[in-house]
Amino acid sequence: MEPTGGGDDRSPMQANATPAGESARGGDKPAERKKRLVKPHRIEGHTRVVCVFGDPVEHSLSPRMHNAAYRELGLDYVYVAFKPTVRRFSDAVQAIRALGIVGANVTVPYKQAAVTVCDRVTDTVSVVGAANTLYFDRGKLVGENTDGLGFASALGAHGFRIRGKRALVIGAGGAARAVVWALTEYGAADIVIANRTASKAKQIAKMFRSHMPGVHHTDLEVLDDFDFLETRQLVVNATSVGLNGKDFLDYSVEATPEDCVHFDLVYAEEPTPFLRMAQALKRPTIDGRHMLVHQGAAAFKLFTGRRAPVDVMAKAIGIKIRT
Ligand code: NAP
Repeated sequence: MEPTGGGDDRSPMQANATPAGESARGGDKPAERKKRLVKPHRIEGHTRVVCVFGDPVEHSLSPRMHNAAYRELGLDYVYVAFKPTVRRFSDAVQAIRALGIVGANVTVPYKQAAVTVCDRVTDTVSVVGAANTLYFDRGKLVGENTDGLGFASALGAHGFRIRGKRALVIGAGGAARAVVWALTEYGAADIVIANRTASKAKQIAKMFRSHMPGVHHTDLEVLDDFDFLETRQLVVNATSVGLNGKDFLDYSVEATPEDCVHFDLVYAEEPTPFLRMAQALKRPTIDGRHMLVHQGAAAFKLFTGRRAPVDVMAKAIGIKIRT
């Protein structure tokens, strides 16, 4: 297991190595230099460690986001990324206990495995079947899932009320489960889950139907069903399609109402293929970084006990949020 460093491509130790006022890269523009050197992160013997486990994890924006929040609040914490192998994941979690690490976020492919390594899990994790946050409560390691809350908060911050709405969720992996959890929890009227492997959509729909009757499943043919699409008020891409910039699936976005919100869980600095399709027809869109920042803010509170400076975390990953 190796620390892979923060989102700014430097390890936390490297990030701390340059004294304030000096630049390790002589050719930088003054504005860039100033941006990087504001409030340098000092790592001392008493600095507390928070981490994220994933594979791959080098691309994760979480270190950047959390370290910016620690700097903002003057907290003596540092957030680093680790890439355990599948075989060593449970050893990695044991290391949290052994080393006194404050807590951990968990990303692909370990969210489901994380459920099995905790002393207890929250009700949300029991329903979703995946944990993205591990923290200690009175010495016990607790598994929580803040993805659904992050999704709902991002919608709320864009003025979208879930209650009574009709949604289409494309995808049936771990992230889709968190999204469906949030939609049922906050009172959506009708949720259709469409997936390439229809049996997986069926399994999720069945699981959630005990909480809410209006959860249905189907395959991807629905993406071309005009009669159905014109009834939707929210369409969520919870697949990983678009992660590598490849085209989105065949989808008749023109059939959706003009105010139908399109939310892509996949995030990138540039609009994703799914969001580009929606934007081309002037549909309102929300990119996955908004969910990322809100799930991160909820985790931050569990790790530090402090309210997260969400605007600072958002800025660190290149977005502006409405607070
Ligand atoms: P996952 O469990 O691996 O599920 C992947 C989903 O994508 C499955 O439904 C899969 O369908 C579908 N899929 C993959 N390739 C496809 C293709 N070529 N055509 C059609 N469907 C395809 O992954 P996950 O954990 O749910 O994550 C999904 C995405 O959400 C990832 O990009 C992840 O980065 C993102 N995410 C973002 C946030 C955030 O904060 N913004 C949080 C969590 C996740 P099958 O079942 O048929 O294989």
